[in-house]
Amino acid sequence: MTPEDVSQALADLYGAGFVEDIGAPNPLPPHERERHSRGVPLLRWMDRGPRLTPWDAQLRLREARVLLVGLGGTGGHAAQNLVASGVGHLHCVEPDTVELSNLNRQPLYRESDIGRPKLDAALATLRALNSDVEISGERREIQGPEDLADLIGRGSYDLLVVAADRPVDIWRWANRVCIAAGLPWVDAGYRGPLATAGVYVPGTGACWECLREGEFARRDLRIADGQDEEIASPRMAWNPATSVTAALSGALLAHAATALLTGVPVLAPGFRFGVNLMVPGDPVLERFPRLDDCPACGHLTPR
Ligand SMILES: [Zn+2]
Repeated sequence: MTPEDVSQALADLYGAGFVEDIGAPNPLPPHERERHSRGVPLLRWMDRGPRLTPWDAQLRLREARVLLVGLGGTGGHAAQNLVASGVGHLHCVEPDTVELSNLNRQPLYRESDIGRPKLDAALATLRALNSDVEISGERREIQGPEDLADLIGRGSYDLLVVAADRPVDIWRWANRVCIAAGLPWVDAGYRGPLATAGVYVPGTGACWECLREGEFARRDLRIADGQDEEIASPRMAWNPATSVTAALSGALLAHAATALLTGVPVLAPGFRFGVNLMVPGDPVLERFPRLDDCPACGHLTPR
């Protein structure tokens, strides 16, 4: 080999994430290195990009500030995953109190919490899980886009995580508010045995409304102007769920969040992915192009 070949080979290896500087300083205190000693190797495994140290992705997660709306089944599992994984700051928003019917799927609550504000019980559980994470919260009901805009405006967040399924317009509000703020966001939930998560970055790929239009067209759902979208996809008074579907949905949500925050693995935003328990192995993927005439993101500069 020539010296040039060797240099090129090293550059290729570095670019593909196979070369790290073993002498680079590690700013994590020893107890955090031990806590994340099983997670960091997986982040390295999935990281196909250049990096200085094995800890780069973990350090990016540690710096991240996340706003989480909803501490039910999906949100509780997502919060648990994010806090266990070592996200830097998590601010939780949830208005409800704990009920017995929550306990089949909501992991942050115990029987002794029944009647207690979910927020108080959740903060105690999450803080007991990982005291290195800065965890805050507020009892608040999202009643309109202005509530989301207010929350986002107060926190200099890197990501919004939507884990609530009401009011029914919450995703549309999140989409519009995040596009206005230029803030990436993720959402997840379950419809029966199907658990999915969506990944959105304003200006890159489809927004939530582009995807919804694409999915309606794919399923040939024709909804007239002004007609209630719920006609196309009616909901029950309670969203049926087990601990399994809630855990899946929450884990997909936490994965989407950590991927956007760390870049590991690289996700091209503007899609939904998931699992259908009735059809194991059947790929669940919605990806549609960004619509030029989208009422939410059409005004953004094309990529
Ligand atoms: Zn759009």
